[in-house]
Amino acid sequence: MGRKIDISEIKELLYRNYDNERWDELEKRCLACGNCTMACPTCFCSKVEDVTDLTGDHAERWREWDSCYTMDFSYIHGGSVRPTIRSRYRQWLVHKLATWLDQFGTSGCVGCGRCVTWCPVGIDLTEEVQLIRDSEKQKETTHD
Ligand code: SF4
Ligand code: SF4
Repeated sequence: MGRKIDISEIKELLYRNYDNERWDELEKRCLACGNCTMACPTCFCSKVEDVTDLTGDHAERWREWDSCYTMDFSYIHGGSVRPTIRSRYRQWLVHKLATWLDQFGTSGCVGCGRCVTWCPVGIDLTEEVQLIRDSEKQKETTHD
């Protein structure tokens, strides 16, 4: 992994940019396939499934890997709280690079680059963060 992310004030940057237009661009590209979450060493999302046999005498409860890119993952009481790919990609990136800092006191990204390697459409989180940073700078310049 030879790429880098400028992590200066990255949490604040991402929290300020919930409505950045980059998320709309990502919506057009991301397939919500979940490859990045399967390859990422720090992703830990899981679901619980109950399985019963036809006799009803035997039941098992399985904990299985899940991904925040699936619609079902955020399904609560009547619907998904993240129905769009835009919202699911944003959830993934902001969790890795910002909310992890609040939750665990460290970044959720170890910089391995696996998500970049395994994304079938070539989405690169290092580029995305830089584009968000650049767009903010551009807006500041336009307002000056
Ligand atoms: S670069 Fe970061 S987000 Fe991507 S797979 Fe590695 S740890 Fe996960
Ligand atoms: S691997 Fe790429 S296309 Fe698949 S969910 Fe992740 S960012 Fe989207």
